[in-house]
Amino acid sequence: MVDIQKRNLFRRKSELIINNLMPWVDDKQQFLDNCTQCKSCITSCPENIIVKGDGGFPVIDFSLGECTFCGKCAESCQEDIFVATTQQAWHKKAVISHACLAFENVYCRSCGESCPEEALSFQIGINAVPEINLDKCNGCGACFSPCPTSAISIEENR
Ligand code: SF4
Ligand code: SF4
Ligand code: SF4
Repeated sequence: MVDIQKRNLFRRKSELIINNLMPWVDDKQQFLDNCTQCKSCITSCPENIIVKGDGGFPVIDFSLGECTFCGKCAESCQEDIFVATTQQAWHKKAVISHACLAFENVYCRSCGESCPEEALSFQIGINAVPEINLDKCNGCGACFSPCPTSAISIEENR
């Protein structure tokens, strides 16, 4: 029983790390195998959105801000972890849940106003649920913290 609980806890922690991998970290196992937890990426991020996560591994925390895709985290790392920054940074996209205020007929445009890619649009009307243009959304996370109801998550979308 204890083993099962430990295994479930480990799985939840692994999923947490994987959902919050840094940009240009494409292979989660390679990351877990090679990261020495030296913190170079954490101190190099100008947005201060990389934090020490579960198990000591660096992860992205969008509650602290957005990724500007500056590439400093990848440049600072001395290990074989990051792919070339000429490649797509990641496959994350914003996802909006039913916690969005529009479902309560409450006016809100916070996410749309914060999106640098203009990936969010609203139909006319007070209860307009934001629509995401997945071609434009780059998963930067800028819409995450402005949402007053935590209706937005940034998730892997391959
Ligand atoms: S690309 Fe830049 S802003 Fe994004 S996590 Fe890396 S260092 Fe931070
Ligand atoms: S994740 Fe970034 S690009 Fe995508 S909708 Fe949110 S703010 Fe816009
Ligand atoms: S910021 Fe949140 S509550 Fe407001 S429109 Fe966007 S998803 Fe809905």
